[in-house]
Amino acid sequence: MKQLVILSGKGGTGKTSVAAAFAHLLSLKNTPFKAVIADADVDASNLELVLSPSVISREEFWGGSTAEIDPDNCTACGICAEVCRFDAVLVKEDLYTVDPIACDGCAACVYQCPTETIKMIEQIAGEWYQSESLYGPLFHANLIPAQENSGKLVTLVKQQARLLALDEEYDLVLVDGPPGIGCPVISAASGADLALIVAEPTASGVHDMHRVLKTTAHFDVESLVCINKADIYLEGTEAIEEFCQKEGIRVVGKIPFDLAVTESMVQGKPVTAYKADSPASLAIHDLWKEVVDVIQDSEK
Ligand code: SF4
Ligand code: SF4
Repeated sequence: MKQLVILSGKGGTGKTSVAAAFAHLLSLKNTPFKAVIADADVDASNLELVLSPSVISREEFWGGSTAEIDPDNCTACGICAEVCRFDAVLVKEDLYTVDPIACDGCAACVYQCPTETIKMIEQIAGEWYQSESLYGPLFHANLIPAQENSGKLVTLVKQQARLLALDEEYDLVLVDGPPGIGCPVISAASGADLALIVAEPTASGVHDMHRVLKTTAHFDVESLVCINKADIYLEGTEAIEEFCQKEGIRVVGKIPFDLAVTESMVQGKPVTAYKADSPASLAIHDLWKEVVDVIQDSEK
């Protein structure tokens, strides 16, 4: 069983449009792989907007803790407010409380409180779901805004997708990764067999792509690049191609700017399902064939 992760150096490059189109192509009759889909962009999960899944199970995600003060045992000594580097301890007329949004969960106050009246309370940080979509099983999640531990939730979503793939003999886990290079991206990239980086020919395109390529290289994950909206700024596209050639990274596809992509998002469909003969859909078909070849070669 292989794991393909789709990444981008920043948000808005069209990563999810490519992931949704791949999910659609994987559901067609002649597909070379049977796939489980994982939306690992837990901070802004939007693959579900395109795949229209029906949730079949929903679980709470407990992540991180915040401090809580028992007012009955508090002597109002003020030590907790002094040690808190996050200004999370609030004081009003000798009543000490903790602002759960500001609390970082460092537990410094717990160790310093002379009356042992502060406890760390685990918090619900989000939910994760197993769903059925028209294009196969989908695992996805939502992190409550301002909650941390998104890397942990990404790992959980991927693990669940992998378990189902192993149990039911799927050949591929298709992961729509988070954008950027932070902790959730590290969680999404680790353990992957292949990464497809979706780059955009903007002024910062090479820089954004380079950052994410460093992450995949760190985890020894083979990486391919595709350029989205490749025809809107040819100099940027050339810069990405030159960089990739120098670094020995294959550019396996160039997707043209195509209004059908936006229309398909509005309609809640992968572009390849919405308008199979649009320029973007045709380019994604070709891109998919290249990706399939690389996965199949790696199995030999
Ligand atoms: S350190 Fe403990 S006793 Fe002192 S103000 Fe804070 S909660 Fe109250
Ligand atoms: S756990 Fe850390 S951040 Fe939270 S109130 Fe205590 S000292 Fe402040």
